[in-house]
Amino acid sequence: MKILANDGISASGKKKLEEHGFEVDINKVAQEQLANYIKENNVSAILVRSATKVRQDLIDSLNGQLKLIGRGGVGMDNIDVDYAKSKGIHVINTPASSSRSVAELVFAHLFGMVRYLFDSNQKMPLEGDSKFKELKKNYGAGIELKGKTIGIIGFGRIGQEVARMAYGLGMHIIAADRNNDTVSIEVPFADGQKITTQVKTTSIEEVLKTSDFVSVHISGAGQTLISKKEMEMMKDGAALINTARGGVINEKDLLEALDSGKLRYAALDVFENEPTPAINVLMSPYTSLSPHIGAATMEAQDRIGEELADQIIELLK
Ligand code: NAD
Repeated sequence: MKILANDGISASGKKKLEEHGFEVDINKVAQEQLANYIKENNVSAILVRSATKVRQDLIDSLNGQLKLIGRGGVGMDNIDVDYAKSKGIHVINTPASSSRSVAELVFAHLFGMVRYLFDSNQKMPLEGDSKFKELKKNYGAGIELKGKTIGIIGFGRIGQEVARMAYGLGMHIIAADRNNDTVSIEVPFADGQKITTQVKTTSIEEVLKTSDFVSVHISGAGQTLISKKEMEMMKDGAALINTARGGVINEKDLLEALDSGKLRYAALDVFENEPTPAINVLMSPYTSLSPHIGAATMEAQDRIGEELADQIIELLK
């Protein structure tokens, strides 16, 4: 059975599929040539990331040939999921595969922010040899994460992974979620030991009021959760982190809160206007920035490929 991995697949995922007798085609076929290519090459399953679209017209033109559509990652905006399912096609994704990579990026930003690394990495190459003492003074009032409170809004897969890591650092955790009430968090250690603890979620207001750092991890497109009113509820000098989706935090209000000193710093991996974020967000001296790389680690790519392979083996063998 032939599988077209049109937006690529990890070597480990490809190997696993091949070991189970599948043929994996890693050609990148242009969207408009996809229907013909699939027909001519007798492809039974297509794997995509976010680039390739699998819409109703493509599904119809293949007359039942496609047995499975796999999305490496979470969002399925590029696939007509309900229509595909109504035609008996399996539609699968890998929602848990990147939770750890996003959570680690949250802490990469956090560790960097509390010691002003995002700023010192820019200034040291320019002024490190001429203004060493001034820079030392500027960045000399950092804080530690231990003993601080991290507020997690959206306590699903990624939010819980953030909590797992925060426990290891000796942080207090407060979380809000509109569905999850009491969540059991297992914290595993490399030597096989683990501890389990319970987190009872609270209101978003309570999280905003009591946290030193607020990290948002809600699902669902188009929700603006934190604007001026919510920022005013936060502790003076607190920080915001958004690795969820652009627009969950109102960027204009965020810049005002940063410029006024209400909030000390913010970390953004996602932006209102991707792929051309607002220049004043990019130029703010108080923002730690990354270009939507939350899920983009080598390990997550491997997990995505292997998770897709496992599901395909189960469904199509
Ligand atoms: P998830 O579905 O496991 O968890 C999301 C949680 O948010 C759910 O428990 C839900 O009940 C809660 N929630 C939704 N709206 C809420 C609201 N208004 N108030 C309170 N709680 C609310 O999702 P996940 O896998 O943890 O992903 C979280 C976010 O991370 C998603 O927005 C996803 O798009 C994003 N993400 C970003 C990257 C990246 O590269 N930066 C990578 C993967 C996922």
